[in-house]
Amino acid sequence: MFDNLSDKLDKAFHILKGHGKITEVNVAETLKEVRRALLDADVNFKIAKDFTTRVKEKAIGQDVLTTLQPGQLLVKLVKDELTELMGGDVAGINLSGNPTVILMSGLQGSGKTTFSGKLANYLLTKKNKKPLLVACDIYRPAAIQQLYVVGDSIGVEVYSEPENKNPVEIAQNAIKHAKANGFNVVIVDTAGRLAVDAAMMDEIARVHKAIQPQETLFVVDSMTGQDAVNTAKAFNDILNFDGVILTKLDGDTRGGAALSIKTVVNKPIKFVGTGEKMDAIDVFYPVRMAERILG
Ligand code: GDP
Repeated sequence: MFDNLSDKLDKAFHILKGHGKITEVNVAETLKEVRRALLDADVNFKIAKDFTTRVKEKAIGQDVLTTLQPGQLLVKLVKDELTELMGGDVAGINLSGNPTVILMSGLQGSGKTTFSGKLANYLLTKKNKKPLLVACDIYRPAAIQQLYVVGDSIGVEVYSEPENKNPVEIAQNAIKHAKANGFNVVIVDTAGRLAVDAAMMDEIARVHKAIQPQETLFVVDSMTGQDAVNTAKAFNDILNFDGVILTKLDGDTRGGAALSIKTVVNKPIKFVGTGEKMDAIDVFYPVRMAERILG
């Protein structure tokens, strides 16, 4: 996870090692390498530039060069900034509804169905909830089938209406079914497309308006870097979603999406997916991720 970025940052800080006395020039050179590492990670140019500007200002403010271990202090400043870039504090999930309705949005292939199952499993096993999974993809019977496979594997009921071509109605009926049968969380998996298009946006907006979810989550493949950020922006403009789910972090060596998305949409990353299995889900802790990146 983020191995390329970790390697490059490690090399950047190497500039400070092996110097008897650290100078302003060494620090500037290091920060330039930090910026290059962020750009290589597919972080957007302005975010990378602002990042190093802020670290530099703090380094000057704290008089880094006069401290006992300027190299270590600089690493700490970078770590703090990385934490902030990824959202600062951990963001919880709102489970206050009765039932709590969670709407999943995102492109096809982003990992929405897999994550719906992981979230249901997490809520069932870690939060003592009784979740219901809802198949709202009216275009691909295989997607409905996939949700049944996922539901079966974790022992969670799946609601679907294969003959109904109205996703708003399916979602509303599912909530009624949940209320009548003691489910306290309803996770609505929706249809994605391969790219953002008006029909998909219109459909998810209608479902969103009709069911008024407590949590609208946007699921995105972290390996798609800046594309992930642009897609997040398009969905957020329509849905004003509550949080981001970054999937496939296990295969992401660069980290650009994780580092850019919060700044662009101003919404927290709530969970990450780290594998194909149902237990490969983690709450996203910005500080732990920053520590991990800096090794
Ligand atoms: P959807 O079209 O958005 O519902 O996406 P799927 O849930 O079908 O996922 C697409 C593919 O990505 C599947 O092969 C999943 O097994 C895989 N996948 C989903 N999440 C992860 C993850 O966190 N890590 C890895 N390695 N694969 C994942």
